[in-house]
Amino acid sequence: MKETEIVFLGTGGGRFTTITQKRQTGGIRILSNRLNIHIDPGPGALIYSLNAGLNPQKLEAVLISHRHPDHYNDAEIMVEAMTRGMLKKRGVVAAPPNILVGNTETGPAISTYHQQMIEDVIIVKPGVNFKVGSTKVVSTEAKHTDSEAVGFRFEIPEVGAIGYTADTEYFADIEKEYMGVRVLIISVMRPLGSPWIGHMTPEEAITIIDAVKPEIAVATHFGMKMLYSGPNREIQLIEEKTGIPTIAAFDGMRLKLGKEIKVVNKKKR
Ligand SMILES: [Zn+2]
Ligand SMILES: [Zn+2]
Repeated sequence: MKETEIVFLGTGGGRFTTITQKRQTGGIRILSNRLNIHIDPGPGALIYSLNAGLNPQKLEAVLISHRHPDHYNDAEIMVEAMTRGMLKKRGVVAAPPNILVGNTETGPAISTYHQQMIEDVIIVKPGVNFKVGSTKVVSTEAKHTDSEAVGFRFEIPEVGAIGYTADTEYFADIEKEYMGVRVLIISVMRPLGSPWIGHMTPEEAITIIDAVKPEIAVATHFGMKMLYSGPNREIQLIEEKTGIPTIAAFDGMRLKLGKEIKVVNKKKR
């Protein structure tokens, strides 16, 4: 079986984690056989990518879930890398309308100058499917303070499906978007007892993970309150309640998916 690697170039979320970089905010890279996707290039995506030895010029696609800076800030520079310094028309960029077109509140977050060098610009909303190489990507529904936010589901032929909720609060039937995924990456910004509009705590994550039953769940996108409370302790509860192996992601974490799914590196001290 061919292997896929998921690299967490950021595990922080929300304004103050981002401003202070208490956790990185570089997004997530998915690497597989001829597949190289960057999801949610927040502040630091370029630098953390280079530091991790992942050449952004090899990217095939940049995907953005919504128009908050912790998810899109480095999008243009990643496009410049993907297009080999704006010299070669290549790659896919998939993002909601407010990133690509703009609206009355915000201009586009990727300029038309940058967009003209992208081979395939895809405006996403829930239910929009597209392909990156042989991988099918489904844009999933999210309920967030940015009404155009989406999540993603990746169906990779060699290894199976990966789900990424992006920023969302719990809503009825969110589980349906991720049924059958082997890995569920779930944004759990807030600690237990401290819910916030548009986000989840371990309590809502438990409901989703219990229904989806992935082989493994990975919690990420930790806000300040979560960091103070301690993500490992908070996330452990999810595993206790669901019986599904669940890990609190750490910056630089590499998760390998083959027959088995495992973290292949240790947390830097
Ligand atoms: Zn966020
Ligand atoms: Zn957000």
